[in-house]
Parts: sequence; C-alpha cells; structure tokens
Amino acid sequence: MQFNRLKLTGFKSFVDGTELEITHGLTGVVGPNGCGKSNLVEGLRWVMGETSAKQMRGAGMDDIIFGGTADRPARNVAEVVLSLDNDDRKAPSQFNDSDELEVSRRIEREKGSTYRINGHEVRARDVQILFADNATGPRSTALVSQGRIGAVINAKATDRRLLLEEAAGITGLHSRRHEAELRLRAAETNLERLDDVLMTLDAQLSGLKKQVRQARRYRNISHDIRKTESVVLHHRWAAASEQVAAAQADLGAAEAAVAQETTIVSQATVKRESRVEAVAPLRDAEVRAAAELQRLNMARNELDAEEKRVNEAIEQWTTRRDQIAADLAREQGLTAEAEAALARQTGQRSEIERASAGEDELIEAANRALEQSHERTAAVESDLAGLTEQVASGEAQLAAMDRELNDLAARANRQRLQHTSAIAE
Ligand code: ATP
Repeated sequence: MQFNRLKLTGFKSFVDGTELEITHGLTGVVGPNGCGKSNLVEGLRWVMGETSAKQMRGAGMDDIIFGGTADRPARNVAEVVLSLDNDDRKAPSQFNDSDELEVSRRIEREKGSTYRINGHEVRARDVQILFADNATGPRSTALVSQGRIGAVINAKATDRRLLLEEAAGITGLHSRRHEAELRLRAAETNLERLDDVLMTLDAQLSGLKKQVRQARRYRNISHDIRKTESVVLHHRWAAASEQVAAAQADLGAAEAAVAQETTIVSQATVKRESRVEAVAPLRDAEVRAAAELQRLNMARNELDAEEKRVNEAIEQWTTRRDQIAADLAREQGLTAEAEAALARQTGQRSEIERASAGEDELIEAANRALEQSHERTAAVESDLAGLTEQVASGEAQLAAMDRELNDLAARANRQRLQHTSAIAE
C-alpha cells in the first residue's frame, strides 16, 4: 500500500490546512525540536483509527484539536485526510471502484469523530480492517516512534509474535477473525434468544390453535346466524314492501287531497285578498266615523254643558223677571197711591185756597207741602220710568234668551240626529 498524501487541518499544531506529499522512495521531514514532526506521525496513526487519547499524548481525544496560541484562537474541528494508492485494486470490494482511496477522520469538540472513505461515511472498524489488510494500522510496528526500537527489542514473546504476524501480512486476518468471532458470539446469543422466542411462540401457538378452533366455531355459528337473520330480514323486507306499496297508495290519495285542498286554499286566498282590498276603504271609513263619533261626543258634551249653562241662565233670568214683575207691581201700587195722594193734595189745595185765601202762612205751608208732594211725585215718576225701562230691557233680554235657547235646542237636536245616523252606519 502506497500513501500518496497526508493532509491535516486543525490537528494539534497544524491549525491551517497542511498537505504532505509522500512520493515514491524516501520522504523525510526535517525540523527543530517542537516544530511538529511527531504530530505528523500521530496524524497518520489517528486517521488509521487510533482510539487511545494517551497514545496521542493527550488526556482526551479533544486534545488533538488545535488548542490555540497567544495569537490565534482555538478551533473546534480537526480533520486528517490520507490518500492511498489503489492502482492494484486490493482494497475491500465496497471501496474498490477508484484508483485512489481517500480516508478521512474528522473530530468535533465534545461530539466525537466520524470516518469517511471516498466521501462515504464508514465505521471505525472498516477503516481499521482496511489498514490491517495492508499490514499496517495505528499500532503497527511499521510506525516507529520515539523509544519504540528499545521497546521492540525488550518485547515479550506474544508482542514479538504480533510483529512477525504483521510482517507476514496476516494482521488483517487476525482482525477479521476477531470480528468473525465477535459476530459468531453475537449469532450464538441471538440463537439462544431465538430458542427462548421459539418456546414462547410454541406456547402462543397452542393458545392460538385453541383460538382458531373457537374462531372457526364462531364463524360457523355466525354464518348460521347470518343465514337466519337474512331469512328474517327477507320476511321483514317483504312485509315492509307491502307497507311501502300501501303507504304509496295512501300517499297518492293524500297528494290528490292536498292538491284539491291547495286549489280551495288558493281560491280562498284570492277571495280573502279581494275582501281585504274591499275592507281597506271600509276600515278607513270606520276610522273616520270613529273620529267623527269622537268629535260628536265631545260636541254633545259641550252642548250638554252649554244647555246646562243656558238652563241655569233661564232660571236666573226667570227669577229676575219674576222679581222685576213684583217690583213693577209694587211700583205701580206706589204710583197709584202717589196719584191718589196728589189728587187728595190738589183737592186739599183748592179747599185751602178757597177756605183760607189770605192766609199766606197757610198758603205758604200748603205750597211747601205741595212742593214736597210734587217732589215726591217726580221722584216716584222717575223711579217708575226707571223700573219701566228695566222691565222693558228685561223683557228684551228674555226674548233674546228664548231665541238663543230655541237655537241651541235645534242644534242639539241636529247633532243628536247626526250622532244616531253615524252609530247606525
Ligand atoms: P521533538 O523532536 O522534540 O519530539 P517535534 O518536532 O516532534 O519535537 P512535536 O512533539 O510533534 O514536535 O510537537 C510539539 C508541538 O506541538 C508543541 O509545540 C506543542 O505546543 C504543539 N502542540 C501539541 N498539541 C497541540 C494542540 N492541541 N494545539 C496546539 N499545539 C499543539
């Protein structure tokens, strides 16, 4: 197996991508102490599947990631890619498609590492077997690190055997045998588990057989039940069909009746609408009549009140007329008395003039009495004239009130007649 190239990125001191060409013949790396020569070999071993952090001179596998310097921050990812020559096509069949194999291992801080061969993710075991088949690997004696020569010389017989097996190129076979043994053991464990499972399945099988017998019986009984049910359902269906036919006949009759009733209803509706149209003006008339009735009732009430007032006035005026008539009779009596007294005075005056002509004093006294009697007569006459005027005006008022009373009675009669005819309408 020929290594063509080694590429390191973020691995230990190789923070930037560093590529090391390994050509045919001898390739050497020369540098001062601490420049990173051993880191290159460790990169080689790490990509070949080294699992021990101690072998990589670290406390944990994350220590192989560039940890930072005074100038540069730490990285979280490290990757090493190793290119192998596969011209002779000796690689395992699944990777044997190309002339070059590119094996890579990538680690992310706290997330572990992944392996790829030609871009396909593979197991660590696949990578280890690939290198073991080519008599190399992370722990290969072909990789001689510091102090390794002394370790080989002082090695035990079993360790030397490993060295010889590796030189004979059968390390891969051992590795495969180990894996085959592991698989065999896993297969044996699986077989044991299968025996257990078979026993469990046997127990389940007998239970299932019983269930199958029950299920068969159930199916037969169900079949019988279904048959019986289908006969019953057929009878029911026949009865239901007859009922449906009868119901359809009833339905036809009912539909005919409904059609007839619908015609009657539509005719009645038309009639009703025409009646409703005719009723509308009647309703208006009724409303107007009601309003008129209301108005007439109010007018009648007013007339009743007015009639009452007129009757009261008539009563007052009748009382007053009677009083005036009594006053007139009394005044006429007084006038008659006054005229009689005047006649008596006139007679007395002429007697006095005759009997005592010369007696001035008597004459004067008689004159004074006569004057007084004239004055009284004039006062009585003026009273009489005033009373006569009052009687005349009272009679005129009585006549006017009689006319007004007659008018009111006539109006009340007319309104009563209108009211009666409105109620009759
Ligand atoms: P020597 O000849 O003395 O063995 P060397 O050339 O082999 O030296 P290495 O031992 O490979 O050198 O490299 C050691 C250097 O790698 C040290 O300077 C150390 O600081 C650096 N180094 C190791 N691990 C890391 C890391 N995780 N991050 C950064 N630098 C690291």
